[in-house]
Amino acid sequence: MRFIITGPPASGKGSVAPFITKEYNILHISTGQMFREEIKKGTALGLELKKILDQGHLVSDELTDEMVRQRLNQDDCKNGFLLDGFPRNINQAKYLDAYLEEKGLKLDFAIALVADKDIIIKRLIGRRVCQTCGKNYNIYFTQPKKEGVCDLCNTKLVKRSDDTLEIAEARLQIYNEETAPILKYYEEKGILLKVDGNLKESYDTFLQIKEKVNAK
Ligand code: ADP
Ligand code: ZN
Repeated sequence: MRFIITGPPASGKGSVAPFITKEYNILHISTGQMFREEIKKGTALGLELKKILDQGHLVSDELTDEMVRQRLNQDDCKNGFLLDGFPRNINQAKYLDAYLEEKGLKLDFAIALVADKDIIIKRLIGRRVCQTCGKNYNIYFTQPKKEGVCDLCNTKLVKRSDDTLEIAEARLQIYNEETAPILKYYEEKGILLKVDGNLKESYDTFLQIKEKVNAK
């Protein structure tokens, strides 16, 4: 199975992703994550990327498309994938379609999480991340057992540098202007699954997705 998952920042894409990839035995590919890894490496490219991400802006299509192409070309994507954070605009959506067509493949579903603005903002500014195992917490909704420390691996939790109110609002606006149009694009192709992203438990979000996949 090949999926993309989209939705405003903090609509729960990253949290629901592991349930989906486990169910369909596919790989989770997050472009945001890939960019953050490059930044962590401290390369010249990483420095460039940090500037862009810290403004809440989008990375160029050329760079992003190429990074995704290289990743999808790897053998471990043969069984399918869940692309999270890509495509972010119509051009990237068309790029993905052209890439898949060239390989004789196609996308099965585009999952779109829909969430209310006030919930999104709280999730964004309250988000804390474990840099070792990737688990997300939130100071308003899902606190770890011990303050500031990951339940799973005892690592100190950090706040992403783009999770401030100002940048959160910029990211939300960019989502509405650039990314939201891809919903219509996938709707016209008949593969859009709209899902409620306001739920507290990611597992419940996953159950909605599974139900909609099975109904198609
Ligand atoms: P969120 O969905 O919470 O905003 P992501 O982890 O998906 O965060 O992305 C973080 C940042 O990485 C984005 O704000 C953007 O700068 C960059 N980014 C991620 N995916 C793409 C993409 N497909 N095209 C351009 N920029 C991207
Ligand atoms: Zn951890």
